[in-house]
Amino acid sequence: MIDPHPLHPETLAVAAGRPAAEPDQPLNTPVVFASTYTAGGDLEYGRYGNPTWTAFEDALGALEGGHALTFASGLAAVAAVLDLLPEGAHVVAPRHSYLGTLTQLAEAERRGRLRATLIDIADTDAVVAATGDADLLWIESPTNPALEVADLPALIAAGSAARALVVVDNTFATPMLQHPLADGADVVLHSATKFLSGHSDAVLGATVTRDADLHARLLAARSLHGATPGPMEVYLALRGLRTLPLRVERAQENARELIRRAGGHPALAELRYPGFGAIVAPVFPDAEAADAFVAAVRLCRHATSLGGVETTLERRRRWPGEAASIPPGLVRISVGIEHIDDLWADLAQALDAAR
Ligand SMILES: *Cc1c(COP(=O)(O)O)cnc(C)c1O
Repeated sequence: MIDPHPLHPETLAVAAGRPAAEPDQPLNTPVVFASTYTAGGDLEYGRYGNPTWTAFEDALGALEGGHALTFASGLAAVAAVLDLLPEGAHVVAPRHSYLGTLTQLAEAERRGRLRATLIDIADTDAVVAATGDADLLWIESPTNPALEVADLPALIAAGSAARALVVVDNTFATPMLQHPLADGADVVLHSATKFLSGHSDAVLGATVTRDADLHARLLAARSLHGATPGPMEVYLALRGLRTLPLRVERAQENARELIRRAGGHPALAELRYPGFGAIVAPVFPDAEAADAFVAAVRLCRHATSLGGVETTLERRRRWPGEAASIPPGLVRISVGIEHIDDLWADLAQALDAAR
């Protein structure tokens, strides 16, 4: 039966990826620990498929509007996508892409596998100009950690017109705030480690595609390279996904309020926020002031990664590989779902300590 009312994302996050509503079926697909299956079915072996993966993939696919595949990590998904490219391919990508993505591109270029042109993803004309002969247009928006925003419909249209594969890393916006497949992208990619899981307890990745052939090629890459996740991680991610809409709504609300309250604070040189999402980036005049801010927090936690229920923060340039164009005093804050007054009290005293 076709449902005459398409379900809202809040409902899909709860309802998709469940066992059939039949007597004695559990409401949740269990964690299936299996290296092999009785012969004659679709799964056969643990590297090819797992019912717990399928449950998560059904739910994420429903939210993004395509067919999802889960990978061992976000970077395993990145590697599988880059592996689709022919030898010598031209890749156009944001100069402020996620550091691991940039490192994979640089390594592939060093080996002569591909040629990468790094652009400012917020400069639509420059991206369109660079995309003319591209085999792959990689879009990340908002970027990590610079928080630049791409004009997704314009860039996806330009990439598609150039017959490039268009990939959007949707880790920061999540399917609650951005739908690249509906805009015409070929692949949506996630570090499910972040907002999708949402509890800082699992490392996981995913791709989502509409085209059946592309799905099959990514599935083949996952199976062949063994970039397969553990079923426990996938169970945790699906459990986290059930509350994604609530978490993103609350974290975004907190982020917007923090921006209002922190605006104009004398310790800050700049305060970056793309206007949506839960990542904010205060920029201090120098690394020392930023380090003093990070060292002063008590409730928030100094830790890398993002997208958890708890607020975490770090000065990004503490990583030697981070782009030199990221200001040394930039702190990436992943805003959590705590009470805004408790969050602000902690961050306000840390801002005062950084002056
Ligand atoms: C963390 C992250 C990745 C990499 O994902 P892992 O799960 O850490 O491998 C890719 N893209 C973005 C935007 C990220 O934040």
